[in-house]
Amino acid sequence: MQQVIDYLHRRKKANPKPVCAFVYDLDALQTHVSGLMKTLPSRCRLFYAMKANSEAPILKALAPLVHGFEVASLGEVRKVRAISPEAPIIFGGPGKTDEEIEGAIDLGLYLLHVESRHELQRIGRIAHRRGVEVPILLRVNLHGALPQATLAMAGRPTQFGIDEAALPDLIRLAVALKNVKLAGFHLHSLSNQLDPEQHVRLIALYCARVRRWIETFGLKIDYINAGGGVGVNYADLTRQFDWNCFSERLAGMLQVECPPGAGVLFECGRYLTAACGYYVTEVLDIKQNHGKHYAIINGGSHHFRLPAAWQHSHPFSIVPVARWDYPFSRPELLDSEVTVAGQLCTPKDILARDVRISRLRIGDLLLFPYAGAYGWSISCHDFLSHPHPDHIYLSETGPAADKTDPRQAAARRSRRD
Ligand SMILES: *Cc1c(COP(=O)(O)O)cnc(C)c1O
Repeated sequence: MQQVIDYLHRRKKANPKPVCAFVYDLDALQTHVSGLMKTLPSRCRLFYAMKANSEAPILKALAPLVHGFEVASLGEVRKVRAISPEAPIIFGGPGKTDEEIEGAIDLGLYLLHVESRHELQRIGRIAHRRGVEVPILLRVNLHGALPQATLAMAGRPTQFGIDEAALPDLIRLAVALKNVKLAGFHLHSLSNQLDPEQHVRLIALYCARVRRWIETFGLKIDYINAGGGVGVNYADLTRQFDWNCFSERLAGMLQVECPPGAGVLFECGRYLTAACGYYVTEVLDIKQNHGKHYAIINGGSHHFRLPAAWQHSHPFSIVPVARWDYPFSRPELLDSEVTVAGQLCTPKDILARDVRISRLRIGDLLLFPYAGAYGWSISCHDFLSHPHPDHIYLSETGPAADKTDPRQAAARRSRRD
């Protein structure tokens, strides 16, 4: 965080243009993820679900640490292959075209997640035509009550996975298809789980269900994919998911519940990259309307849609900036509540609502932490055609990476490597 603030002061001194940037701390990212890998139980593998943030410098920082990447399009497969010819890739997601399946097979697949009967038949046909064997996991949308979390993909009607009631038919078909190897099951059901014990309970439920299918159908499987869904507490940044408690309890539970010989895969996005990223913008204006104070920032939900998408007030801190270049007095707010709005012409462009501040001036910077996952990647960048933010990748191990152009930064990193 201090490194990010130091960078912002340097940037503001050097250039009067209003700040608008995503700033990533690559050292913090690597420290965080190395820590997770160290405590992961031995039969588990951790993949990065790259839809959370697929910028090349992020992928490059993660590639030496994680077991591989989880992707959901051929575009994402290509992004992985651009930074690593051999990183294991798991390809999932609803609505894969033939072209995507063929392209992914060509570029090297570790596992393919199957979402429906029609998709399984198409994969069988493509694999047969090419004379290859494709290892698959069937993605199952479970029946019955699941623990609660912010988003639910299963345990209720959604477009994801194979209805558990239809699973016997698909298992029989997968076993019968010559060029398909049924390697296990994929059960990603929830997102943003904050309670480690609930998460272990969910994975225990997955294990029990898979043991039943193994017995019923006489299967031998390699993997249970427990998906992602480890959460980030945006409401209270000091109380995050307790990974050490999770990994400890998980190890104990798996010894008892995991089918013998099966490995457990995780494909986490948010929990890996959220904390390393900051969205930083300058206050362009301060105004009052109908008794409420508004700060208008140089940016908004076209860069950082997460608060609008989740309807939450994203936490931020104020970085005071001394510089003031205008000949007239500088407007400020003291001891008030302020709502932070972006530049878009829609009342939904709100990043934080009614936040108590002691002092905020036009020209100060707002720094939104935990913006590294589902920030830039989910936003409608060209709505209203404002300029894109800078993307800054900080790394103490290589100050040369401290450049605005991600491609240059990536090139520098790769030369260092
Ligand atoms: C989005 C997604 C993930 C990652 O979810 P997080 O909540 O970011 O960990 C994992 N698996 C699948 C299938 C997904 O769609």
